[in-house]
Amino acid sequence: MANLHFHYGTMGSSKSAQLVITAYNFNQNGTDTEVLKPAFDTRFSNSEIVSRIGIKTPAVALPNLNTYTPKPSTKFILVDEVQFFTPSDIDKLVQIADGKNIIVMCYGLMVDSNEQLFPASKRLIEVGAKLHRMESCCQMPGCTKLATHHLRFDSTGRVIRAGDQFALGDSNYKSVCRQHFNAIYHNQKTKGR
Ligand SMILES: [Zn+2]
Repeated sequence: MANLHFHYGTMGSSKSAQLVITAYNFNQNGTDTEVLKPAFDTRFSNSEIVSRIGIKTPAVALPNLNTYTPKPSTKFILVDEVQFFTPSDIDKLVQIADGKNIIVMCYGLMVDSNEQLFPASKRLIEVGAKLHRMESCCQMPGCTKLATHHLRFDSTGRVIRAGDQFALGDSNYKSVCRQHFNAIYHNQKTKGR
């Protein structure tokens, strides 16, 4: 079994819910599991991961993984919002997975709202993490295509084409298919739009 996993998907693709379910199952089995999240993801709580559908699990919030050391009994590490860590944090997770016989499962976004890979997500691909796509539908009305991209809007509904890759919260984001991304972000005409 691979010892480093990246479960990726757009916002709203149930990544946190899946993490919470996985943590629950491991704990039910008596398998020592640690749950980590970046300290600046403060949308809900610093000591929990709360899924949009309401299920939650305790978590430890860390600003980085420089000094992080798992407990000796830990068998699994689950990491939420992994895109907000740095490439060197990913390298630390690789050291832990390979050096301590621990399985590391990361959950997060692949690309930002400018169709660019998050640095941590890019690093996960480079180091050979096993990729698992979490699928969800485009959020444009009536569209049933696979959501692969994000669009970010300002308060007047205009699309934002540059800016902070690390903006938190998702009230101004939509998860959309590639065709709707190209149509709206690049103003391209798309068949069937
Ligand atoms: Zn679409």
